[in-house]
Amino acid sequence: MIQYFFSFLPENNLVDIRILIPKVQEKSLELHLPMWRPGRYQLQNFAKNVLNFSSREQDGEKLEWRKSQKNVWHVEDTSGKNVEIRYQYFAKELNAGSSFVNRNFVYINPVNLCLYLAKLLNQTFEVNIDRQGLECHYSGGLEAIFQENTLKLHPKDFHHFFDSPFILSKGIFHERFKVGEVSFHVWIEGVFKIDKDKLINDLYKIAESQVQLFGEFPEKDYHFMLIVPEATYYHGVEHRNSTMMVLGENGVLPEAYYKDLLGLASHELFHTWNIAKIRPKELLPYDYGKENYFETCFVAEGFTTYYGDKILFESCVISHEEYLYELETTFRRHFEEADYASQSLLESSFDLWVDGYEKGTPNKKVSVYSKGAIVALILDLKIKQKFKGKRSLDNVMRLLWLKFGNMKRGYTYKDIQKIAEQVYGGSLREYFEIAIEGNGSIFEYTNAHLAFLGLRLMWIEGNCCLKAL
Ligand SMILES: [Zn+2]
Repeated sequence: MIQYFFSFLPENNLVDIRILIPKVQEKSLELHLPMWRPGRYQLQNFAKNVLNFSSREQDGEKLEWRKSQKNVWHVEDTSGKNVEIRYQYFAKELNAGSSFVNRNFVYINPVNLCLYLAKLLNQTFEVNIDRQGLECHYSGGLEAIFQENTLKLHPKDFHHFFDSPFILSKGIFHERFKVGEVSFHVWIEGVFKIDKDKLINDLYKIAESQVQLFGEFPEKDYHFMLIVPEATYYHGVEHRNSTMMVLGENGVLPEAYYKDLLGLASHELFHTWNIAKIRPKELLPYDYGKENYFETCFVAEGFTTYYGDKILFESCVISHEEYLYELETTFRRHFEEADYASQSLLESSFDLWVDGYEKGTPNKKVSVYSKGAIVALILDLKIKQKFKGKRSLDNVMRLLWLKFGNMKRGYTYKDIQKIAEQVYGGSLREYFEIAIEGNGSIFEYTNAHLAFLGLRLMWIEGNCCLKAL
């Protein structure tokens, strides 16, 4: 079995990685580093952080190696040998998708730094983490076995490992709660000034609401992990059975960020169904070596943004007024910035890989998050109006879960249309043409549906405002 050995050089912000590949049959080995990480549909440059690469026969001679592209290493003359690869990774970037090592804690996103053999992506392997004598906690979605100075992880395959970030820390805050049989863990690294009991209570309500919506939870446990950074930051990334959130300012998570934290946690938890399991065809399985273009990110991110906030209100962790404020913020982001953009939601989803996470060319793209959330609201209201509240977008989500939750296949844009029309009991062609495929303003179209909620969007002194009718 392939074995990985991780140890850390905190004074230099380095992760030292050793890979043992036993009894290699091939004449040469091709090792790849991922070009992107799930959750951010954009190529990254993790390879820039790799240094001191070397290869040898275990306890023996050096083996020649060369690079064929920035993230691919070839090791030669490997046939019949136990091959040992060694390299280091510079881990000094702290965001929800990076890796970071210092004297206080170790935070690893395996997708950043784990070289893999492309044809063995679906194989199991063992990870050994050197605790270097530290009495530390492991927080993360994988089950960790403590053996003296080593921590052992046994991911099912590379997809599993890549989707399981972890933190090693001596002083991390840890609390847990249960929803049904599922254990939810809350881990916070750093200084926070929020009410712990209230946080646990509110996260419980959020998790319970989401489990009720889908009828079941896809995993046996879940981990909300939060790092409070030195710099001001607001970022979260979803994973199979965890989320990594980096939130705070000047080294503290103040009370003023409490609602942001709940919103982030709710959004990321919703992804446990909607992207970690219910996934576009193009992303199943993930190909870490190149762009995975897809048109339907309005479902993965837009619907999740809509539900992330809606569930805060429905689970009574925010008031109706606070929910309307969140909605208004989403409207502002779209109508004040991008209602006249030239791309449709489908085009902007595809182009996430081009410039999706930067300001980009003016009047070009729409946000799959904010426009995606608005079109989710419109679809929800359309269905509710027709069935007087007896059906809603919840039915669409549940059907998506039933059809695609087992990950045997991913959905296409056609599947989304079909399932929405099945719930609606009629054609939604006009909706898809205007809201998803079109690039015209959706201001009046949104207002026509908001009337069902007794609300209306208005322009007041250049600002898009949400008012009662
Ligand atoms: Zn998201």
